[in-house]
Amino acid sequence: ITSNRPVLAIEGLTVSFDGFKAVDNLNLYVDRNEVRVVIGPNGAGKTTVLDLICGKTAATSGSIRFNEIELTKMREHEIVRAGVGRKFQTPSIYESLSVFENLEMSFPRGRMVLGALTFKRSPDVVERVEKVAQEIFLADLLHQQADLLSHGQKQWLEIGMLLMQEPELLMLDEPVAGMSVSEREKTAELLGRISQGRSVVVIEHDMEFVKSIAHKVTVLHQGKILAEGSMESVQSNPKVIEVYLGH
Ligand code: ADP
Repeated sequence: ITSNRPVLAIEGLTVSFDGFKAVDNLNLYVDRNEVRVVIGPNGAGKTTVLDLICGKTAATSGSIRFNEIELTKMREHEIVRAGVGRKFQTPSIYESLSVFENLEMSFPRGRMVLGALTFKRSPDVVERVEKVAQEIFLADLLHQQADLLSHGQKQWLEIGMLLMQEPELLMLDEPVAGMSVSEREKTAELLGRISQGRSVVVIEHDMEFVKSIAHKVTVLHQGKILAEGSMESVQSNPKVIEVYLGH
């Protein structure tokens, strides 16, 4: 019965900062296999919504259910372990380590082969690293030091580090900022692929890119949903046009 339920169900979510509601009674549902893009002007509450989901910010009220688990009472690391991965705008990778090592480090410790106090590579890890490297277009660069990668490749590496943890929900903040045109195209392809069997939530400003990846778009404005639906429907919505163009 649970398979038809949304993976992520947010209801009545509110957060106040000194009485200012950055997120105001939000309801948001994201399905499995879905790429949801959240757009909206600066200060709309987009980052705060992701912060609330991953436990970085505590909700004032409301609920966030992920596969029927209530996240609002959980700590950040517990939310990661529950299967939620978050990528921030700036890549946080280990520049002095190789692509392989970066991916390997992200393999969940709980599933590592425990060899006393020494760190041991299990065939399981190697296999997984190779599979993920393939997915993120870095299979030929496994032994390259990470600081030599292009900006776009670093962004992919960080997505790969999240994939190592096998998240069911992946949240990405402006994943193509600073990328070349061809890197953008490959990222769109990557997001389409990784949404299979998962849910992906993306904050994005680049409307051409939004068009190429979004199954559904949620427009936030002043902490509330202004419009939701296909890219075409929100783009032609007068309220959305006014928020973006009118002052
Ligand atoms: P967006 O990502 O859509 O640009 P944010 O979620 O970053 O918007 O911010 C929404 C609003 O909440 C902004 O007015 C911002 O100043 C405010 N805000 C965000 N985090 C905090 C915080 N920790 N304390 C006070 N105000 C905050």
